[in-house]
Amino acid sequence: MSDEPLSDLGLAVLLLNSVDLLEDPADRMASDPVWWRRALGRHGHADLARTQRNADLPMLHALRATIRTVFECDDAEDARRVLNLALLYADAVVQVEPDGLAVSGGLRGRLLFAVAEHVATHGVARLGICASDPCRCAYVDTTRAGTRRYCCTLCNDRAAARAYRRRKGETGS
Ligand SMILES: [Zn+2]
Repeated sequence: MSDEPLSDLGLAVLLLNSVDLLEDPADRMASDPVWWRRALGRHGHADLARTQRNADLPMLHALRATIRTVFECDDAEDARRVLNLALLYADAVVQVEPDGLAVSGGLRGRLLFAVAEHVATHGVARLGICASDPCRCAYVDTTRAGTRRYCCTLCNDRAAARAYRRRKGETGS
């Protein structure tokens, strides 16, 4: 992993994966933003981490649900509809700054805009949910072929081992 701060799209994935069904408890951001603050700090966003308050939790939960809906969309049109509505409610207004585009609406505006930018360019094919049951973690597929199916190497290996056992079971019986 590089020391580069995580991109806003990366932060959106990080927010989604605050729920990890393989962890106990699964929702590590259920009652306080401690996990989220640590995760932001670990990914090069210490300043942002310091601004996250308990009062932000309802917004973070709602934002997480909205972005998850987008990642679960099979259809780009559906994803666009969800995003456009969410951007409207977040008062996410885009302005041209000397160093690029800036969006209002705080963290909510930023993450929604990052996901929207991705969907506008690439559609929804590369926004995925891990196929290694029961994991439901999210990922952005950056492979050249666009064939990624799992959130991490661990899930990939677990799925491969399961498939191997299944094949062995079929031939062995
Ligand atoms: Zn996974």
